[in-house]
Amino acid sequence: MKKIVFATNNAHKLEEIRAILGDRLQILGLSEMGCHDDIPETADTLEGNALLKARWVSEHYGVDCFADDTGLEVDALGGRPGVHTARYAFPDRHDPEANTLKLLDELKDADTRTARFRTAIALILDGKEYLFEGVVEGEIATEQRGTEGFGYDPVFIPENLGKTFAELGVEVKNGISHRARAVAKLAAFLLKG
Ligand code: IMP
Repeated sequence: MKKIVFATNNAHKLEEIRAILGDRLQILGLSEMGCHDDIPETADTLEGNALLKARWVSEHYGVDCFADDTGLEVDALGGRPGVHTARYAFPDRHDPEANTLKLLDELKDADTRTARFRTAIALILDGKEYLFEGVVEGEIATEQRGTEGFGYDPVFIPENLGKTFAELGVEVKNGISHRARAVAKLAAFLLKG
């Protein structure tokens, strides 16, 4: 079976993509490659960061690979936190609870709460680069609601559904999420060959 490396150490993301592609392609995570590198994510766009990670793995390990990067784009904040979504509250660390509280605070007097999650996936296959995008539109709730999921899920209400991702649950979320949509495009591309 053809092998492809997903430039991530996130077990949940690996499981998600293996559920879609696992019987057609062997998907390896970074730790299975013996890669524990601190891969730079210094670009100023999601696409740029996804490409940096994919190029790093391609150049250092000589394998076909893909990488993802996700951002939350809030209209009232001019598209922030965007590429800084993971380290929105603190530039040097990922603190999901602090991120969520900062977002609610920044929006407390906002007239509009529309936002979107956007995922970029960069694929390097036989030395060629490809980009895929997944978007889910929605709005930011006025307080945290629900217990499922992770990150900003308790404050993100997708597609006028009236409930946050954390209330809707993982199954509903995985049918409509930004990452699921980007992964579906990647899968369609990889499986057509
Ligand atoms: P990453 O690029 O997947 O590491 O995501 C960057 C940031 O976006 C992290 O802070 C995540 O918590 C957040 N994030 C990514 N996907 C989701 C999601 O599906 N729900 C909530 N937060 C997310």
